[in-house]
Amino acid sequence: MPLHAPYDPDNIFAKMLRGEIPAIKIHEDDHTLAFMDIFPQSDGHTLIIPKHVEARNLLDMPTETLAPFITSVQRIARAVEKALTPDGLIVTQFNGEAAGQTVFHLHMHVIPVYTGQPRRRGHGTGEPADMDALGKLATQIAAAL
Ligand code: 5GP
Repeated sequence: MPLHAPYDPDNIFAKMLRGEIPAIKIHEDDHTLAFMDIFPQSDGHTLIIPKHVEARNLLDMPTETLAPFITSVQRIARAVEKALTPDGLIVTQFNGEAAGQTVFHLHMHVIPVYTGQPRRRGHGTGEPADMDALGKLATQIAAAL
C-alpha cells in the first residue's frame, strides 16, 4: 500500500471512534482517545489517536491539530510512567506499510520498557492479551492522569 492513499473511514480505529467496535479506553477528550493496545508489546502498551481528522499518518495530519494531539500523548505517557513505573518508555509511530504501519489512522504508541523483561516481538500479531488484565491496566493509568 502506498504511503499516500485515500483515508479509509472503515479502518478499525475510525470504527472505535464511532463506537462500532469496543476499545479499552483510558481517557477521551475533545481531540484524542487513548486506549490499550490489545496486542501489547509490554504491560501498559497504550495507543493515542486524534479525533475529527482523516489522517492516515503524521504526514497527513493538519499542522494546526498537532498541538492538542502531542499534548495528549505526553499526558498519557506521564500517566503510564506514574502508574506502572517502567524503566523507560518508547513513544513512536509508523508512517506507511513499508515502515511497519498496520492500521491507517494516525496513532502514537506509548510502550513501557521494563529492564530485564523482553518486549513482545513485532506488533499487531499473535493472541490478544487478556481483556480483564488490560482493563485493570487502563484503570491504573487513568487514575494516574
Ligand atoms: P501500527 O502497526 O499501525 O503502528 O499499530 C497498530 C497497533 O494497533 C498495533 O500495535 C496492534 O497491536 C494494535 N491493534 C490492532 N488491532 C487492534 C484492535 O482491534 N484493538 C486494539 N486496541 N489495538 C489493535
